[in-house]
Parts: sequence; structure tokens; C-alpha cells
Amino acid sequence: AVEFSGVHAWFGTTHVLRAIDLAVAPGETVVICGPSGSGKSTLIRTVNGLVAHGAGTIRVAGVTLDGGAKAADAVRARVGMVFQGFNLFPHLTVLENCTLAPLHVRRVGLAAARALALGHLDRVGLADLAGRRPAELSGGQQQRVAIARALSLEPDVMLLDEPTSALDPEMVGEVLAVLTDLARGGTTLLCVTHEMGFARAVADRVVFMDEGQIVEIAPPEAFFDQPRHPRTRAFLSRIL
Ligand code: ATP
Ligand code: MG
Repeated sequence: AVEFSGVHAWFGTTHVLRAIDLAVAPGETVVICGPSGSGKSTLIRTVNGLVAHGAGTIRVAGVTLDGGAKAADAVRARVGMVFQGFNLFPHLTVLENCTLAPLHVRRVGLAAARALALGHLDRVGLADLAGRRPAELSGGQQQRVAIARALSLEPDVMLLDEPTSALDPEMVGEVLAVLTDLARGGTTLLCVTHEMGFARAVADRVVFMDEGQIVEIAPPEAFFDQPRHPRTRAFLSRIL
């Protein structure tokens, strides 16, 4: 679904991604962790062209991001993105938030877009609240709407950048439950998170990034129980 090969990125003279090689297979869940400033968000953002990579190759859903607008548009139509903040359109209802992209990007009809959106809202447990506006929802509910909205394009891959870190603690579980359901249902997920319980239970592989590099990548049992790199061990001992 996503393939990085020798990818580098710079912000000005700051070298923020260094020789990234990573292939995320269809249906796979890959969790990315690492210290602040290590390049996790930058890595995620290169996938839909929000950040341009400076060298190397990124292929998403069969399209090579070549710096051109055509490839970027083709990729964005295949990728769902969920950020830390909810970024819902405040003046639109929950249902309208979830039909906007299908109506405009995929040009499906209104009735079909509504039916699809209600299906995705049902999946995140919110079909009952389709008529509300974001301000009338809890943080956890808003983030579940953001996930339903991202699903509304039937993406090849979902990118999630710390989807629970802006939530009150009692709402983290409901969002992780939705992500767990998606992962087990075969959605391809590339997720930055510090929720190591989620990573252990749900990830197929865990990536540890430091200073713009992938330092370690392993299935969760090996990653948590026998981390090989001293920097991974130091990081895990700080956060677990
Ligand atoms: P955090 O855990 O704090 O979210 P991160 O691992 O997501 O950190 P990035 O946001 O990818 O880290 O940042 C990687 C590096 O790139 C940092 O040194 C950061 O200061 C720098 N950086 C990020 N965005 C920009 C930008 N728009 N302009 C310049 N430098 C940037
Ligand atoms: Mg970040």
C-alpha cells in the first residue's frame, strides 16, 4: 500500500528524514513511535504530499509521488488522514462532514454519499448523532467522526498522527477501540502513537524513529520484549 525507498527530507538545511526504507503491506497496521522531533509527523505527511520529500521514492496505492500535482491529487484521493486535533468543519453536521469529500472528490450522488457515510458512522458507533454539529460532541466522539470522515473516501491507507493525544484520558479507549476494529477488519493503518498497549495488541510491526532514521522495526513481541538497539531500549524505559 505504501513504499518508501531511500527517502530523505529537509526543512531548509535541517535533515529531518534520513534514508527511510519502509513497505507497508495492504491490510497491515504499522505503529510509529519515537522521541519528539524524531520525524514521525514528517514521515506520515510525506505519504500524502503534505511534506515534499527531497530524495528517494514514495509509492502509494501504485502511484509514485514525483512532486507533481497530478500524482499528489491521485494519492490524496486514496489516503485518509486523522490528526491530533479533530479538524472537523464546525458549521456542518456530522453527516455533512462525512459526505463532503465523497460528493466533491468522488462525485457520488447525494443519496449514495449519505448511505455510505451512515455506514461509516455506524462503524464508529455514531450513526445516532449524524445530525449534530461537532461542538455538540465530546472529544472522543469528534475524533471518531474524523475517523469516519477519513474512511468515507474508502482509502487504501489511513494515516493517523497521534489520534488520541489531545483527548481526555477517559475518551482514549473509545477511539483506540475503533482503530482496533479497523485494524482487525483489514484496513491498512500507519499510525503515530505513544499508546504502547495499543501497539502491542494491534500492530503487525512497530517502528522506532530517532533523529530522522528508522532505528528499529519489529513485530510487537520482539520490539517490546527484546528491543535490539540501545536507543530503543532507552526510549521504552522512559515511556513504559
Ligand atoms: P513530535 O513527537 O513532537 O510530534 P515528530 O517526531 O512528529 O515530533 P516532526 O514534527 O516530524 O517530529 O519534526 C521533525 C523535525 O523537523 C524537527 O526537528 C522539527 O523541528 C522539524 N520541523 C517540523 N516541521 C517543520 C517545518 N514546517 N519547518 C521547519 N522545521 C520543521
Ligand atoms: Mg509529531
